[in-house]
Amino acid sequence: MSKNSNNLDKFFRSENSVKPKKPKKIITQVAEKKQNERISFLQSEILRHQDLYYNKSPEISDSEFDLLINQLQKLSPDNPVLNLVGKDSSKMYDKIEHIIPMNSQGKANEVSEFLAWTRKHIYPKYLVQYKLDGISVELQYLNGRLKHSVSRGDGIKGDDITNNVRKMKGVPKMVDGKFTGAVRGEIVMYHDIFTHKYSDQKNCRNTASGITKRKDGKGCEDLNVICYNAKNISSPFTDELKKIKWMEENGFSVVPQKIMKNTNEIIIYRTEVHENLRNSLQYDIDGLVIKGTQIDWEDMKRHHPEKQIAFKFPLEEAISILRDVEWSQQGSTFTPVAIIEPVELMGTTVQRASLANPDLIEKLNLMIGSEVIVVKRGEIIPKIMKVVYSSDECEKIKIPEICPVCKEKLINETTRLYCSNVSCPEKDLHRLRKWIRKLEIKNFGEKLIEQLFNEGKIRKIEDLYKLKVSDITALERQGVKSAEKALNNLYAVKSISLGKLIGGFDIEGIGETITDLVVDAGFDSLEAIKRTSIGDLAKIEGIAEINAQKIIEGLKKLEQDMIDLLETKKITIEKKVKGGNLSGKSFCFTGKLNKITRNEAKDLVISLGGQFKSGVTLKLDFLVTNDLSSGSSKNVKARDLGVDIITEGEFLEMI
Ligand SMILES: [Zn+2]
Repeated sequence: MSKNSNNLDKFFRSENSVKPKKPKKIITQVAEKKQNERISFLQSEILRHQDLYYNKSPEISDSEFDLLINQLQKLSPDNPVLNLVGKDSSKMYDKIEHIIPMNSQGKANEVSEFLAWTRKHIYPKYLVQYKLDGISVELQYLNGRLKHSVSRGDGIKGDDITNNVRKMKGVPKMVDGKFTGAVRGEIVMYHDIFTHKYSDQKNCRNTASGITKRKDGKGCEDLNVICYNAKNISSPFTDELKKIKWMEENGFSVVPQKIMKNTNEIIIYRTEVHENLRNSLQYDIDGLVIKGTQIDWEDMKRHHPEKQIAFKFPLEEAISILRDVEWSQQGSTFTPVAIIEPVELMGTTVQRASLANPDLIEKLNLMIGSEVIVVKRGEIIPKIMKVVYSSDECEKIKIPEICPVCKEKLINETTRLYCSNVSCPEKDLHRLRKWIRKLEIKNFGEKLIEQLFNEGKIRKIEDLYKLKVSDITALERQGVKSAEKALNNLYAVKSISLGKLIGGFDIEGIGETITDLVVDAGFDSLEAIKRTSIGDLAKIEGIAEINAQKIIEGLKKLEQDMIDLLETKKITIEKKVKGGNLSGKSFCFTGKLNKITRNEAKDLVISLGGQFKSGVTLKLDFLVTNDLSSGSSKNVKARDLGVDIITEGEFLEMI
C-alpha cells in the first residue's frame, strides 16, 4: 500500500487485528535454542541438497544452495558439514588430476569492487568474455587425441566423465597432432533444447549438471561445451587472442569476447549485457570475465588467481525475514505486500516485496517471521520466491475478512481478494487520488483528499472543481494559504489530452499508456471511443481483448462523470494538432530533464501531433537525454539501432 493511505491502512489493520510481532521481539527470542535448531536444520538441508545434486536431480539452484552455505557459515563457522561441501560425494567415477588447476577466480559483485581490482591491474587492453553459468570441464588431449574429460571436483582432481562428454556437442575428438595438454570449458544446455525437452526441470544449469553425472550418459547429446582456455604443455600460449584463434581453428566452440580499452567501457558493457544482450543468448551467463591479453600461467596456478576477475551481474537474490504483511487496496482489490528485513539487491535497499495474492501466501507456506528468498531482476518489483525456513515461533498470516471502508465482507477467490460492494466508497477515493497524482497537482496531498472525502465534500472528480477555499479551511489543520495554493494548482491545469483524461478516471487495468494507444489509433473523442466495439479496439496493436472490454465497460459506467467534469469548464480536452510541428515523429525520454518535467514533455509531444514512446525501438525517431554518454540501456540501444539522440535543449528548439 502506498504510504499515503496510511490512515485507512492503520484502521484496516486494527480492525482485523493483523498485528504482527515487531522485528526486535523476534530477534531477542531467537536465543540459543532457536539458533541450534536452525543450525541442525541447515546441516540436514545442505546434506540433502548435496545428495540430490550429485545423485539425483537438484531441487534448488546453485545460488540458493550457496545461500544456505552462507547462512551456516555465519551461524557456525567451524561446522563439519562445511568441509563436506563441494567435495564430490559420488563414488561412481575414477579421479583424474587436472592439467590446468580449477582455482577460485576473484569476483566483483559491485562496480566499486571491480574498480578496486582495475587500480591494481592496469592493462593496455582488456579481454572481456561472457562468464558462462555452466558445469566446468577440462578436456585432456594426448598428441591431438581426446583422452580424458574431467569434472571440477575439488579443483585439483575431478571425475573422469569422458564417456559422457564425448557425446556432447563442441568437443572435437581430434585436434592439432602437436597438442598435448588441456582445454577448459563449460557444459551448458541451450535454452531451446531446455524448452522443448526439459521444461519440467528447474533450469538449464541444473539439468545440464544432472545429465553430465548420469552413468548411462542419457541426454548428453543435448549438451554443448563452450571453451575459453587451452594449454599446450610443451609450449603454452602467451597471447590470449592467439590461443582463442587456435581453439577456433581446431573446432572448439569458443566463448564470445571483446577487446576494450578502458574500464568505463567495460562497466557500460556489463550493464548492456545484463539488461539486454544476455536475453538473446542461447545459454545462461552470470557476468563477465575480465583479463589482460597476455597469459600468465603462473598466476593461474595460484589458489586465487589475481590477474583476471569475474565481474558478476548485480546480486539478484538474497535471504531476508518476513516481518509483516500489508494489504494494499487498489480500487476494490486487496493485494498483500511483504514487509521484509531490509536487504541490498541490485544496488538498492529492498524492504517491500510483492506477494501477488492470498493464494501465493498459501502456496509458499509463508508466515510472519519466515526466512525467505527475495529476488529482484532489472526494473521488476522485488518478489518473495520461496520460504527457506519457518520456526515454531512464526505466526500465520491473517487474511483480512472485512472491507475497512464499507464493512462489507471481503471475497477471497484466492487469486484475488476484493470488496464486492459495487458502491464501496474506496473506489471513489482511489479515483480522486489517482486524478490528482496523474495531473501532478502540487500541494494537494493525499491527506487533504482523504479529509475532503471523509467530510463528504468530494465524491466524484467534478466535485474537485467545485471546491471553495472555505471548504478546505473548514478542515482540521488547513490554513487559507495552503488551501489557496492547492486550488490554484488544481485550476492551473486547464487542458489535458483525451488519453490522460480517460487514464485518470481509474478504470481498472487501464492506464494512460493504453488509452494513448486508442487515441493514437484515431479514436480521438469520447464519442468516437464510445461508438466503437470491443473487436475494433482489440485490433489496435498493444491492446488485448480483455483490455478492450474493460475500456468499453468502464466508459459506459463513467462517461456521464466525464461529461459532467468537462461541463464545469474548468478543464478541457486538448485538441491534437494535425500537421503540428512534431507530426509523424516519435520521441522517447530518458534520464533527468532540466527545464520541463517528463509529463510536460509528453504533453508537448502529443499536443504538437507527435508520438510519445516509453521504450527505444527501431521505429523511434528521437531519444531525448541530457546525458549523451550515459550507459543507460535506452542510450545504448538507441546507439545500436541508430536512433537520433538529442538533448532537451535540441528538443525544445524543435518545438
Ligand atoms: Zn468496501
